[in-house]
Amino acid sequence: MRALASAALTPTPSTSTPVETRLAASPASAKGLPAFRRALLTWYDRHRRDLPWRKTRDPYRIWLSEIMLQQTRVAAVLEHYRLFHERFPNVRALAAASESKVLAAWSGLGYYRRARMLRQCAREIVELHRGRFPKNSEALQALPGIGRYTAAAIASIAFDETAAVVDGNIERVLQRLVGSSLTAKQTWQRAQSHLSSSRPGDFNQAMMELGATVCTPRQPKCGMCPVRKWCATQGEAPRPVPVPSQIRKEIWCALDQRGGHVLLVQRPGKASLMAGMWELPQWSEPSRRMPGSKPASRTAAERRKITALWRTFRHSITVTDYTVHVIRAAAPAARGNWIPIAKLSDVPITGLTRKILKAGGII
Ligand code: SF4
Repeated sequence: MRALASAALTPTPSTSTPVETRLAASPASAKGLPAFRRALLTWYDRHRRDLPWRKTRDPYRIWLSEIMLQQTRVAAVLEHYRLFHERFPNVRALAAASESKVLAAWSGLGYYRRARMLRQCAREIVELHRGRFPKNSEALQALPGIGRYTAAAIASIAFDETAAVVDGNIERVLQRLVGSSLTAKQTWQRAQSHLSSSRPGDFNQAMMELGATVCTPRQPKCGMCPVRKWCATQGEAPRPVPVPSQIRKEIWCALDQRGGHVLLVQRPGKASLMAGMWELPQWSEPSRRMPGSKPASRTAAERRKITALWRTFRHSITVTDYTVHVIRAAAPAARGNWIPIAKLSDVPITGLTRKILKAGGII
């Protein structure tokens, strides 16, 4: 957003231009496309955020960033991206690593299925493609964990294929530009018809950047928008974005540290979340779904009675907000493994466990 403040763009006054007229000017309606593309790309060249994966056309690095950015904020990805790339600098290094080592490097990013698929895909690239990424989106989509979006992102950015991407940001931008709801099929068609054939990778990233920084879900910054004059809605009727109901849960964890070891428990290999990862022993409190209401919790007086309580953390996983009470003592009936603290960096631990161990000065 630093650069946007200085955007030298001339906004089109929305008050004097009825929506019907603007719909006619929409780039999708015909002649405006070249100017639309130019305006967007010029803005992108001047105002894009300085992100490490934008300085490369290496398909491995682009793929890594795209997988990490799925359902994870840019700020949370930056450091993980750097460290992961340091540890596994190319697809062969990733393919040769054990699953445990890959999960350990992924720790803190969540959605661990992504890390497993990443390694599986790397192995397939090495075994079937001699360690080289296929150069078109169709062949990329045949690889494990690479869907239409990721294949088009890699193919357009690394290999200049004219393949459009559609993510949540781009879908929102297109619907606002057009001024009506679009089916998934129509959205992909619009994205493809808008795409620049001379700079497809930059155009795709420019659309994503516009959605992430200007055409944001709740308060689009239409006054700074480089494509405002082609936009049917111009923020007049921003589409309400549904807020998912959050589930609130209260759990207890034991941080039991003895003689340079810490007690951890491995999650079941078939768990739907974080399968096979290691975590502190934990046990549950009742949960309930209460959108907009206060979480079920003990009173302060009740908490004070729990003498072993060390700290309370907040932690969110997908649509669940956890209140996590940590005791520094043995867990009731915990069965786990005593892991040497010096070896923790090689163990795939959950993000919550990482947070607690850091707070305790253990890692
Ligand atoms: S920021 Fe405003 S003007 Fe630009 S595309 Fe979004 S709604 Fe339209």
